[in-house]
Amino acid sequence: MARDERRALEHEAVGLLSRLLQADTTNPPGNETRAALVLAEYFAANGLDAQLVGDLPDRQNLIVRLAGTRPGPTLGLLGHLDVVPAEPDEWAWPPFSGIVRGGYVWGRGATDMKNQVAAQAVAVARLARQGAEFSGELLFMATADEERGDYCGARWLVRQRPELVRCDLLLNEGGGTYSVVDGARLYPLTVGEKAFADFRITVHGRGGHGSVPLHDLNPNERLGRVITALADHESGVAVAPFTARYIDRLVSDPALRERLKDPSLARPAVRELHRLDPEAAYLIEPLLGLTFSPTILHGGGEALNVIPSHASVDIDCRMLPSQGPDDVRREVDAALAGIDGWEFTWTDLTDSNESPVPTPLSEAIERVMDDLLPGCEVIPLHLTGFTDSRWFREAFPDIVAYGFCPFVAEDTATMGGREHAKDERIAVEDVPFQVRFFELLVSELLP
Ligand SMILES: [Zn+2]
Repeated sequence: MARDERRALEHEAVGLLSRLLQADTTNPPGNETRAALVLAEYFAANGLDAQLVGDLPDRQNLIVRLAGTRPGPTLGLLGHLDVVPAEPDEWAWPPFSGIVRGGYVWGRGATDMKNQVAAQAVAVARLARQGAEFSGELLFMATADEERGDYCGARWLVRQRPELVRCDLLLNEGGGTYSVVDGARLYPLTVGEKAFADFRITVHGRGGHGSVPLHDLNPNERLGRVITALADHESGVAVAPFTARYIDRLVSDPALRERLKDPSLARPAVRELHRLDPEAAYLIEPLLGLTFSPTILHGGGEALNVIPSHASVDIDCRMLPSQGPDDVRREVDAALAGIDGWEFTWTDLTDSNESPVPTPLSEAIERVMDDLLPGCEVIPLHLTGFTDSRWFREAFPDIVAYGFCPFVAEDTATMGGREHAKDERIAVEDVPFQVRFFELLVSELLP
C-alpha cells in the first residue's frame, strides 16, 4: 500500500472511530442509536444504505449488506455499540472525547469494541467504493446492549428478526490481542466461551445489639469465612487440548509447562506462574477450570449498632465447556464443608458454546495474519468471558463464529486491563491495521 493511501486509510478509520467514541453509549441506559446514526451517515456517504432495527427508539441496531458478484457464504461482521460506564475524574482525557493524543485514540469503547466496529465498517465501505469482486455477501451488524442485559441487541435480533441477521460465518469480539513468546507473536483466536454459573451464598445468623459480639452468629463474620474459603479452594483442573497448546506456546520453562498441563499439579504450578509471569498466569488460570469471583456483598446491616440477621455474597462463577452445574455444586460443597448455615441459590446459568476448528474461516484468518505479520501464530482458544457470539451459535447451529480483531502495536501485557477501566485507548497504528485485516480477509475467504 502506497504511503498516501496508508495515510488516507488511517485518517478515515481514526476519524470514524473518534466520532463513534464521542457518541456516549454508556449502558445503562445505552442510547446506542446515537452511534448507529454516526455509522448510518458514514455508510450513506459511501453509497450504502443502512437499516436501523430494534425494539426501542433509543436503542437501535444497525445492519448493512454488501452483496458480492458470485454466490457464496454470508460473512457476518458483528460488533456492539454500547460501552460500560466511565468515571471522567479518573481519566487523563475525557472518556467521550475520542481525542487523538500521544499516539492513541482515547475513549470508553476504544478497545471494547468501537475499534472493531469502525474497522469492520471502513473495510465494508472501502470494498464497496472499490467495486471489489468477491463471492457471497458481507453482513455488517452494529448492535445494542451487550454489556448488560442483552435485551434489545444481538439476542433480540436473532430471536425476533433472524431473517435479517442469519449468516454462515461470523467474526465478533473476543480475540486478537497478542503475547510475545520467545520473540514470536501469538494470537488467540477465540472459538468458544465459558458459561456463566453465577450463584449467591446467603448466611443466616442471630440479629442483636452491636455492643455484644455474636461471632459465629453474626452473619457478616460467617460470610467472611465463606468468601475466604471460596478464594482458598483449589477447584478441579481439566486441561482442554486448546489450553494445552496455549500453555505450550505461552510458557517458556519446559518443566513448569508440563506441571501446568498435569491436572494434579496445575494448581500449585499456576501459583508459581503468578510469581514468575503474572500476565501469563492471568491468561492461563481461568482456562483450567471453575472460577469464583465474589463481586457483590449484601451485608444486611442498616445501623452501626445493629448486628443483622442475614448477609449474602454474589459470586461470578464461570465453567469450562466440559463442565456443568453439578460440578459447581460439588466444588462449592467441598469448599464450604467446614462452615455451617449457608444457603446456595443460582442467579444465572448459561450453556457454554463453541464453534468447530479448523474451518475455511480459521484457515483464512491464519493466512491473512501470516501475510500481514510473517511468522506470527494464530491459535484457537476458549474465551473466559462472554460475547454475543453465544446468541448466534444458539440461533444458527451451523454457524462458524469466532472472536478476532488483531492488534499490532501493543501486546496483551501492555494493553492489559484497559477494557472496562480508566484511560481506555488504542494505539493509532492499530486502527488502520485492523481495517486491513478485515479487507484482506474478505478477499482470502470469499475469492
Ligand atoms: Zn465487548
